[in-house]
Amino acid sequence: MLIEKEGLDGPRSMRRGASTDSREPAASGDVPAKLKCPSRLEHMAEAEEDRHIKLTGEFDCDPSPLATLRHSSSHVMAQAVKRLFPGVKVAIGPAIEDGFYYDFAKAEPFTPEDLARIEDEMCVIVKADLPFERQEMSRAEALAFFRERDEPFKVEILEGIEADRVSLYRQGDFIDLCRGPHVPSTGKLRAFKLLSSSGAYWRGDERNPMLQRIYGTAWPSTQELEQYLWRLEEAKKRDHRKLGRELDLFDFFDVAPGEPFWLPKGMTIVRELERFAREHLDARGYQEISTPMLIHQKLWVQSGHWEHYQDNMFKVEVEDELFTLKPMNCPPSTYVYRRAIRSYRDLPLRYSEMGRCHRNERSGTLTGLVRVRQFTQDDAHLYMRPDQLQDEITALLELVREWYGTFELQPSYKLSTRPEKSLGTDEQWQSAEAALHDALKANELAYDLNPGDGAFYGPKIDIYVQDALGRQWQIATIQADLTMLPERFALEYIDSDGQPKRPVVVHRAIFGSYERFIGLLVEHYAGAFPTWLAPVQARVIPISEKHAAYATIVHERLRGARIRAELDGRNEKLGYRIREAQLQKVPYMLVVGERESQSATVSLRHRSGDDLGAVPVDRVLADLSNEIASRSPRLGVGRS
Ligand SMILES: [Zn+2]
Ligand SMILES: [Zn+2]
Repeated sequence: MLIEKEGLDGPRSMRRGASTDSREPAASGDVPAKLKCPSRLEHMAEAEEDRHIKLTGEFDCDPSPLATLRHSSSHVMAQAVKRLFPGVKVAIGPAIEDGFYYDFAKAEPFTPEDLARIEDEMCVIVKADLPFERQEMSRAEALAFFRERDEPFKVEILEGIEADRVSLYRQGDFIDLCRGPHVPSTGKLRAFKLLSSSGAYWRGDERNPMLQRIYGTAWPSTQELEQYLWRLEEAKKRDHRKLGRELDLFDFFDVAPGEPFWLPKGMTIVRELERFAREHLDARGYQEISTPMLIHQKLWVQSGHWEHYQDNMFKVEVEDELFTLKPMNCPPSTYVYRRAIRSYRDLPLRYSEMGRCHRNERSGTLTGLVRVRQFTQDDAHLYMRPDQLQDEITALLELVREWYGTFELQPSYKLSTRPEKSLGTDEQWQSAEAALHDALKANELAYDLNPGDGAFYGPKIDIYVQDALGRQWQIATIQADLTMLPERFALEYIDSDGQPKRPVVVHRAIFGSYERFIGLLVEHYAGAFPTWLAPVQARVIPISEKHAAYATIVHERLRGARIRAELDGRNEKLGYRIREAQLQKVPYMLVVGERESQSATVSLRHRSGDDLGAVPVDRVLADLSNEIASRSPRLGVGRS
């Protein structure tokens, strides 16, 4: 199905990476002792479960060293839990991004005090340096073994395994069903911390028993652990839901769950991003369209979405006919293509759309701006001849690099190729995969290969970005569509030989959705947007009422230069007004008093607290206008 992955769960990891304005922890003392896990960690775990636990229930581990360390930590945690709570039953314990968890059957939830005791017991086990010993046995023996030990979840897993022989791992008094690998002994665990616990259904299914899951993190060194804990804390401070309220960007109300109300300041950011997108697309031969939101069911029957995706659509009855709010823009865009006969000379046609979509996400999964029911994609559908695919993708990748560069987000790429079940001919697939591959090469981009992970209708490039905290977010997809739209909607162009042919369609979004991208940006910048995106770019602050007239002149000059400026002439202390502007992350404060009004200057301050002294008003205006026009990521006015 043509379902671009919307509603992803925030950053997928918090790997260490370049930071722009973030401070590293000065010392371990800065790290709070107790941390609550953000809910996105749970979403991450769900994704990991999909990856690790096969349909049979077999537990397939990632053999990379860090995952091995973390997975081994989960065994040690389970051992500690069994020592302290002997009646508890063990379920599964995989490594996940940045850590691990283990699920236990226990009537009462674990308390923070329990976690502290478990962590202490883990330290005892680590100190004992128990070797992890592998042992193989037949499935039947293993079944008997775990039945005897009264471990029903292990029994259930074993019942789902087809293999004749299975492996068990023992460290001291604890033995677990596992494929491995593990570190050689428990003493290899150096730096770990238990983060939180929460309820989780066995195999993620609400019909199954509720288990108690404990999340932990483990790192090769104490220093890395401390940095991770600091990043976790920093991520909490940067949470876009919190900053969105504090900075008056957007809000949610119970009448529309999962649908943001954009406040004036947030809407300014939306508009700046739209303007940015349109400038780039206009210059690259895109044509903007807008297709309806309320669309008859029969379109989705034709596209195939009705069969597979109708539960995710909002349905509306109009004069006894069934309509839906569109969950995607692809099928509607074909109407624009099909309304005229297209010649090979007309192609490529690049239709962009600020497409407002709705998807019926379960209310329990809605999360701020990153998982919503209504979102606006910066969508585009590119209709082309097969021989144009490589050039189009090459240009698209260049555009992607340029866009993310503006926001100082570091992209990385994954190419997914033909899955086992797919539509289209060998030749179509080979040439499309080669086109994507060569386009990546032409842009000198390194990428990971995901063999067999493409959609059934074509290969794709997924693009991840790394934010200032080093976290990975998947936001963009470039999807080559060889058969879906072309076949289902009988798209044609008349080729040079006079024959009708099927075009290739490329689906692509670069921001993904405005909602999610702004959520990402709020956290990436910690609310301190570069000047061009900042809802308020400058605030004029007269020292006292005596300077109100001059302050008004400066304010009006800024506004005349189309700089988003405010005047704060309130009868409050100067220090208070400066602090408030800083808290609102206003890039520049222009303080004016007697001296400034005499010399046509302002006393310029940055939100960072830097006091840059007196700068002529003319220069502030010129430099500020330049900084905004060039969409500079840095605050440079008054620096040189
Ligand atoms: Zn294991
Ligand atoms: Zn599409």
